[in-house]
Amino acid sequence: MTRAGKNTRKDDLRTGEPFWMSLPGGKVNYRADAGQAGCDVIIVGAGISGALLAEALTRAGKSVLVLDRRAPVVGSTPASTAMIQHEIDVPLTDLRKQMSPRAANAAWRRSVKAVADLIDLTTDLKISCRMEAKPALYLAGDQMDGKALEAEAAARRRIGIRAEFLGPARLLETYGMARDGAILSHDSASANPAQLAAGLLRAAQKRGAIIAAPVEVSDFAELPSGVALATADGRVLTAEHAVFCTGYEFLEKMQNPLHRMTSTWAIATREISDMPEWMRDTIVWEASDPYLYFRADPSGRLIAGGEDEETSDKNTRPSVLRRKAREIASKLEALTGVPVGKPDFRWAAPFSVTDDGLPIIDRVEGHERVYAVMGFGGNGITFSMIAAQIVATAIDGGRDPDAGLFALR
Ligand SMILES: Cc1cc2nc3c(=O)[nH]c(=O)nc-3n(C[C@H](O)[C@H](O)[C@H](O)COP(=O)(O)OP(=O)(O)OC[C@H]3O[C@@H](n4cnc5c(N)ncnc54)[C@H](O)[C@@H]3O)c2cc1C
Repeated sequence: MTRAGKNTRKDDLRTGEPFWMSLPGGKVNYRADAGQAGCDVIIVGAGISGALLAEALTRAGKSVLVLDRRAPVVGSTPASTAMIQHEIDVPLTDLRKQMSPRAANAAWRRSVKAVADLIDLTTDLKISCRMEAKPALYLAGDQMDGKALEAEAAARRRIGIRAEFLGPARLLETYGMARDGAILSHDSASANPAQLAAGLLRAAQKRGAIIAAPVEVSDFAELPSGVALATADGRVLTAEHAVFCTGYEFLEKMQNPLHRMTSTWAIATREISDMPEWMRDTIVWEASDPYLYFRADPSGRLIAGGEDEETSDKNTRPSVLRRKAREIASKLEALTGVPVGKPDFRWAAPFSVTDDGLPIIDRVEGHERVYAVMGFGGNGITFSMIAAQIVATAIDGGRDPDAGLFALR
């Protein structure tokens, strides 16, 4: 059996209170007893990744048990600012240098499809989570100037992804932001991430999925005909397959040198009644390191974040949270000219990134029936959607045509 690694920590998921946790609709009923299992699939982790997978698997007729060491939807999912972007953190022009151009094109196209599929899914299931399709503005910054963004927009258009380069004058005139240009794109969205994950889990429950918590999985082994999961309280649960959707926490056997931990910070401002009209429905982020990103929620709060640092524990320090929240708010004011004042909510959490900006969605090395999804970076929700599609197809005996793009590497 594989022991739980030292990266598996229990109580340091977040500092501060994520805005979404103050709103209703993000909770799901669950039970304490996992029963005897013996189901088709055990999903470990009841965040957005586990929720999307539980929905996909139950839609395919599988029996599913979802386990979480905490209550459902209290991990990194409610900390997300939930800008559901098709734009991968690594620009297409860069990704084409890191992998074959064909693979980079396919990864970018798959992200566009994942956002569209997620919007369709929430519409079909009538999940009330303020899912809204939105345009996105990617501003020039210290990582990419206007010229580089113009080339990036052209590269995207060549593979059929809508992207328009706005020069500095047009950007200033239309959006009031002074930068060396921006890419305007049209295939992103935003939502309330807690309501989204909870709605998906409820849909899976209606089809028979069981959610049990708190149940900590500490160990696993593959059997000739299935998998056995050991829990921290000494029980063994069996299933035909297991999928670890454990966010930034993972068992030692799943560690991958590509995968690094990052701390990130976010704020929700007061409700702003007099913001420019475009700001209500446009996602904004920048080609800078560290970067700033923001979008409005339906009540008129700006949800903003960034200031990422490559460290897994800085997010736990309250004094750093106060400083980072001030920095995000003042950068937001300086960029937009909108007085945002002291944030009503501020929070910090870790997340994991990979060098090529793509997640790792695959079987755990040396295992046929155990999968892990990890390394979601800033595109967490989009990549969780792709993970659910790839893993559900594999468990059903098929192979997603894009599975190789996100495989262990
Ligand atoms: C501040 C911030 C802003 C972000 N903004 C965005 C954004 O704008 N857009 C975007 O797409 N993404 C964003 N992300 C990333 C996104 O939130 C994450 O990728 C996503 O929430 C990960 O979901 P998950 O289900 O994989 O993990 P989680 O939500 O963390 O769920 C994992 C669950 O697994 C459980 N677990 C862990 N280990 C065990 C175990 N051994 N046994 C049982 N249970 C276990 C945990 O308790 C947890 O509930 C952001 C992240 C942060 C922190």
